[in-house]
This record gives sequence, C-alpha cells and structure tokens, in this order.
Amino acid sequence: HAKVNGRNQASFFDPSMTRDLVRRREIEAELRLAVQRDELSIFFQPIVDLKSGKIRAFEALVRWFHPEKGELRPDEFIPVAEETGAIITLGNWITAQAARAAAQWPDDVTVAVNLSPLQIKAPGAALGILNALREARLPPHRLELEITETVLLDHSKQTEDFMAELSAAGVRFALDDFGTGYSSLSYINKYPFGKIKVDRSFVSGVNAGKKSEAIIRAVSEMALTLDMQIVAEGLETIEQVDAVRKAGCTLGQGYYFSRAVPDYLAGMLLAQEREKLNPMQAIG
Ligand code: C2E
Ligand code: MG
Ligand code: MG
Ligand code: MG
Repeated sequence: HAKVNGRNQASFFDPSMTRDLVRRREIEAELRLAVQRDELSIFFQPIVDLKSGKIRAFEALVRWFHPEKGELRPDEFIPVAEETGAIITLGNWITAQAARAAAQWPDDVTVAVNLSPLQIKAPGAALGILNALREARLPPHRLELEITETVLLDHSKQTEDFMAELSAAGVRFALDDFGTGYSSLSYINKYPFGKIKVDRSFVSGVNAGKKSEAIIRAVSEMALTLDMQIVAEGLETIEQVDAVRKAGCTLGQGYYFSRAVPDYLAGMLLAQEREKLNPMQAIG
C-alpha cells in the first residue's frame, strides 16, 4: 500500500528504518556542535570499597542533554561518534574534563575514563592523554582507562604501545564489561590490566542461580592470584552486593550505591564521607 513518489516501492520501504537513519544523521550533525553549545557534560558514578563502604573512584560517564530530544544515552551517540571519527575530539574533551574534576578530589580517589578503539589508534593518543593530565595537574596514577575486549581483538601493535607507554607513566587500566567478549584470559595475560570489571549481566544473575555466582568467584580468585582488583558492575540491590562480596569482589558500582552524578555532587559525596560535615558548618 505504501507508495513513494508513485513508484511501487512498498516492499522495500520500512518507515522505521528511515526514522532511525534520519535520527542518526541528526545526531551526527548535532554532535559536532554539542560541545560548543554546552549540551554535553560528564557525570561521575562512585566505585565503592565493598568492605569499608568508602568511595575509591568515580567512573566518568558522558551525558548529552539535547534541547529538543531530551537526554541522549551514550549507547546511542557514542557509536555514531565512533563511526564519524568525532569520538577523537569528543574523547579528548571527556578526558580533560574528567581529569580536571578529579584534581579537586582527595589524593586517593581515582577517576576512570572509558576509551573507544579509535581513540587508542589515533596518532599521538598516549601523549594527548599525558598532556591532559599535566594541564589538569592530575598525577597519572589517579587516572584509570577502561577498555573493552573488542579494542584488543586485533592484537595491534598500536594498542600494545599505547598501553605500555601510559602504563610506564603510571596510568592504570581496567578491562571493562568482562565476560561479554571473547578469549579474555589471553588479554589479561598480555596487557597491563590492574582491574577487571565484571559485566552487569553476571551481577544481575547472581541471586537467580548458582552459575553467575560461581563465575564471579572464579574470576575473583584469578584476580587475587594475579594481584588484580575486581569490580562488580551494575549492583542494584543489597542482595547482589552481599552475593558479590561473598564471591570475593572487593569493589562495587551500581544504582544501589549511586547513579552517575554531576561533579559538584561527586565532590559533596566525598566531603560528606571524609569530614562527616556538621550541617551548620556546611551551610555557613
Ligand atoms: P560502561 O563503561 O560499562 O558503563 C557502565 C554503564 O552502566 C553506564 O551506562 C552506567 O550508567 C550503567 N550503570 C551503572 N550502574 C548501573 C546499575 O546498577 N544498573 C544499570 N541498569 N545500569 C547501571 P551509561 O552511562 O549509559 O553508558 C553506557 C556505555 O556507554 C558505557 O558502558 C560505555 O561503554 C559508554 N560510555 C559512556 N561514557 C563514555 C565516554 O565518556 N566515552 C566512551 N568512549 N564511552 C562511554
Ligand atoms: Mg566503563
Ligand atoms: Mg562496563
Ligand atoms: Mg558497557
């Protein structure tokens, strides 16, 4: 029935596909302007020590508040930015912002930044990150770069050099979304990861059956042996927190503790837990 310009294209025409494509093109065009228009910001989600309950780090997560489209999730626009190459500029901006925020926090709190494959392979990538740290006056050991297995799939020399150079400077690395990819163990062996982030999909299954729990326990034991830390992602309930703690996770992240918050709130969470602020002093 649907005819386009009178020609019978009904069988080829899927309106939802066109809508998706139009939206993608819009995002592509508007993303270029989003930074200048001040529509992007970096939010910070606490990563908590499961023993003491103290905040050890924050993960920087980019947010886009579009004047007409509302809040856009990174899962929607990061892939577009990767496709167009805009992720390089955007990624540099994110790292700089995250480093600047972290420089305001106590010395033992680190900031974790997600990296896209393209960012790692850009010429001068490692140097760019070190420059951003210097400008923000953030010591390299307070930055942790989160990368997923997909980045490592091609075993490229560039990735190896990138990680070696930054690692020598003191920057840390975390293997993100662990368990969703491929031959993870070889990556752990080959690259200088100090931390493994167990994917949310295992955490959400942790109370349902014994299997997810057993997997988390096995990964925890391996991490302990290799002197690595293990973070459980996506903790939403106290039951999940208890289960992953019992399974050997030392760090946790998720809505149970806090969602990602703007930098002033991250600073307040830290101040609150460090100083146990007297409310009168806080106001005065
Ligand atoms: P990720 O690096 O695995 O980040 C964790 C995601 O899980 C975040 O989604 C976070 O908000 C969400 N999350 C945290 N706790 C919970 C929970 O308890 N329950 C549920 N359901 N979700 C939780 P977000 O911010 O939407 O980011 C999605 C992905 O987009 C990230 O996954 C990361 O791969 C990418 N991303 C986000 N920010 C950046 C960035 O600045 N640069 C790059 N290259 N990628 C980014
Ligand atoms: Mg991450
Ligand atoms: Mg993750
Ligand atoms: Mg992810």
